[in-house]
Amino acid sequence: MTTDRSQTSTSGDDHADLLAEQQGPVVLGEPSAETKDPGHSESGRAGLVTIVGLPNVGKSTLMNGLLGEKLAIMSPKPQTTRDQIRGIYTAEDTQIVFVDTPGIHESRAPLNRAMVGQAIEALEQVDLVIVVIDVQKVRDAWKKLGFDPSKGGLAPTSGEEAEARLSRRDRKLLRRIRHYTDQFLFVLNKIDRVRKTQLLPIMETYAAVDGNIGVLPVSAITGDGFSQLVDAIRPHLPVCPRLYDGDMLTDRSLRFLCAELLREQVFHRTRQEVPYGVAVQIEVFTEHSDVTHIQSVVWVERATQRGILLGKGGQMMKELASAARAQMEQMLQRRVFLEVHVRVEPKWSERVETLRRLGYSN
Ligand code: GDP
Ligand code: MG
Repeated sequence: MTTDRSQTSTSGDDHADLLAEQQGPVVLGEPSAETKDPGHSESGRAGLVTIVGLPNVGKSTLMNGLLGEKLAIMSPKPQTTRDQIRGIYTAEDTQIVFVDTPGIHESRAPLNRAMVGQAIEALEQVDLVIVVIDVQKVRDAWKKLGFDPSKGGLAPTSGEEAEARLSRRDRKLLRRIRHYTDQFLFVLNKIDRVRKTQLLPIMETYAAVDGNIGVLPVSAITGDGFSQLVDAIRPHLPVCPRLYDGDMLTDRSLRFLCAELLREQVFHRTRQEVPYGVAVQIEVFTEHSDVTHIQSVVWVERATQRGILLGKGGQMMKELASAARAQMEQMLQRRVFLEVHVRVEPKWSERVETLRRLGYSN
């Protein structure tokens, strides 16, 4: 049907079994079958850390940057991350298991409710909560208000004063977080976008907020501040053995990650109404000796969305699938034969039962 190894199809309205069976966890890099992982020493620390923050502040980019692998999909559009993905950072005597969460936000739609539920759940189980803040946004908001603390030493003198400088959305976020924990670490992200003189007063402000146990400036894109961040996290983890093998990067299957890569391409290439009406399901994931065969379904809510996704003469889907396949091949380090079918399931995102079947809720 196509000249590319990505194959797209416009046919098929049958509802195959939607239960995607999980495969084993992902181990990337050299297999260490012979050399058994020794784990860390008796004073080693390990624990769960969750990353929360408003949409688009760079939570996924941060986790991926720390792990050096592309685990959680990234997109300039908010709310790309629907599922929890654990990313495992292992260094000598430290194992940080990051739980990436969807942005915490208010919504009544069932899909968003399931997302928020997962974020909250993540807060309850963890050893440390990291709150990511976009410093570029803070700088811009302050500018708009005519507030320029870099012109004079205007460090806030109280938690209240500091909090009054935060945006309404940040204050609301903190209120929600404080339901679950009274301690959190601020990560001020995107420092590559602001000058030092602008960054310092922002750091002082967040440092004065009640409950914070540290303010770490980083750039998730350049990696600036990463080692200081790991050093700041470590003391908050319990002294205990590793939770996962040292060579594991995520608890998610390759199959799941491939579905995410395909969904990411849908996000990148479509506008407005399509992305949020989309679910991706991998029906077949078979590893042959020379190629991995992946058969997938992109579920949309309306026939018009299907039309948009396919594009003129199927051109859009052809390009989309080809790009997704390239990403999958890069991740799997082997050739991929990708088939993509687009099917219409009216109002799938409103139907909790469907959400459940697709694994977004339990
Ligand atoms: P999330 O919604 O919080 O998970 O945010 P993402 O990780 O998807 O990032 C949202 C956008 O911010 C993407 O376009 C990223 O490339 C961008 N971004 C993330 N971190 C940084 C950073 O440190 N510097 C800059 N300049 N952009 C960043
Ligand atoms: Mg994200």
